[in-house]
Amino acid sequence: MSTSAPRVAIIGVWLESNRFAPVAKEADFKEFYQIEGDAILVAAREKNPFILGEAAAFVKTMDATGPWEPVPILLAACHPHGCIDGRLMDQYLATIRAGLTAAGPLDAVYISNHGAMIATDRDDPDGEVVSVAREIAGPKARIVMTLDLHGNISETMVERSDLIVGYRTNPHVDYIERGEEAALSLRLMLAGLADPKAAFIRLPLTPASVNLLTASGPYGEMIDLGNRRRAELAGDILNVSIFGGFVFSDSTKNGVAIVVTARRDLARAQMLAKEIADYGWSNRPRFRKKLMPLSEAVALAGNRDRKPVIFSDSGDNPGGGGTGRTTELLSALVWSGAEDVLIGSFFDPPLAKQAHAAGLGARFKAQFNRHAGLPCDTPFEADAEVVGLHHGTFVGRLGYAQGRTLRLGPSAALKIGGVIAIVISDRMQTADPMFFEIFGLDIAKAHTVAVKSRGHFRSGFLPWFPPERVYEVDTEGLTSPVLERIQFSRIPRPSYPLDESAEWTPPAW
Ligand SMILES: [Zn+2]
Repeated sequence: MSTSAPRVAIIGVWLESNRFAPVAKEADFKEFYQIEGDAILVAAREKNPFILGEAAAFVKTMDATGPWEPVPILLAACHPHGCIDGRLMDQYLATIRAGLTAAGPLDAVYISNHGAMIATDRDDPDGEVVSVAREIAGPKARIVMTLDLHGNISETMVERSDLIVGYRTNPHVDYIERGEEAALSLRLMLAGLADPKAAFIRLPLTPASVNLLTASGPYGEMIDLGNRRRAELAGDILNVSIFGGFVFSDSTKNGVAIVVTARRDLARAQMLAKEIADYGWSNRPRFRKKLMPLSEAVALAGNRDRKPVIFSDSGDNPGGGGTGRTTELLSALVWSGAEDVLIGSFFDPPLAKQAHAAGLGARFKAQFNRHAGLPCDTPFEADAEVVGLHHGTFVGRLGYAQGRTLRLGPSAALKIGGVIAIVISDRMQTADPMFFEIFGLDIAKAHTVAVKSRGHFRSGFLPWFPPERVYEVDTEGLTSPVLERIQFSRIPRPSYPLDESAEWTPPAW
């Protein structure tokens, strides 16, 4: 049992891995963050932290709910990318191991991970982080982990932790509540008011992320069911986390996962996990969606006789490991002569630099992707006018990045015919209106907006674009939701919707 000031270690390696994207190296993590020791507490306690909101909220909530002795060790995070380099993962695990060992007796460990990380040489580095924590902190320490709802959950992650708290909204707007919930649940455990037992079911169901929205659709209904039951059974059920998973990880732990944690009684958790799994499985035909063909999107952009619309450049979502550099949609819109179009944001540091050198109002030949890239990163060249320049550091205003400090690096707005294209120097999805507003651009005046974001833009752009005026366009890139075009090699098959024949039998607990 804990003393009055529980000692809680803080660790995390946050990465969503798209197996088809370039390997995530240390420099990629450092671009987002890699902090150790007291720097973690300083970052977490900032008003507008640059670190993940749930990690900051965990620290702030522990601060607010009584004495504690934080033992900050390592928080590393990379924008969604490919596999983590296996040697880098070893290095992070060694840092965590050394920090936990040096810490001496611990009452708890808090882990801030995404949950869909894979390494170049293995499939479950998230599970390894939990395992190291358990091994060193010992069987009596409480291990609490926050995860993104796109996490791919392994048996190891569930068995070696006490509590997994996953996001419950997609677009993700509840990360602060989840960080708070993790801290409050930990306080309950440390006070002896909960001794969590988790039930875990992984379905052979691997939908594309466009089918995992929570405002509507079968996944949202699963989450609603979980929320309802948790409220009804609050005395018994501590947490219900339902993970949609991240299909592009293409790993052995892929599949929609239900983790129900009871305060004490495993049977209650199992019953509810089965109910939710059953609901999801019986609704599996609804985990499919048709995208808008590019030709239709271009025709719609040219139609002046309609209300403004927003397009998702769904094939190239940097928030899912996309390069942020495909120009298929941009070039199609420019060539079609569409007017009053805002499109963002292209990860092209050389182009941003060139625009800054040219200066505001300058006209020049903009060359997108003149530096080497993947085959989908097609070069595109056009006469452009620099209509906006910015240093790229600002606080998110709306949606998933609200209140968080974003650092896009040197950024520019380029006018190409009737299209204004945003160029940035850090690879981030365009999910907040500030990506346009920092240049003084008025989203309300645009006829068509196009964003490199799969789903999170929905919350950021909701004031202008209700769901019926949102279109997911079938574009090329590393995050195309058309799974039939992708050569998966590691996902356990059969799995729906890849295989119509997939079957699931409830566990015989
Ligand atoms: Zn996510």
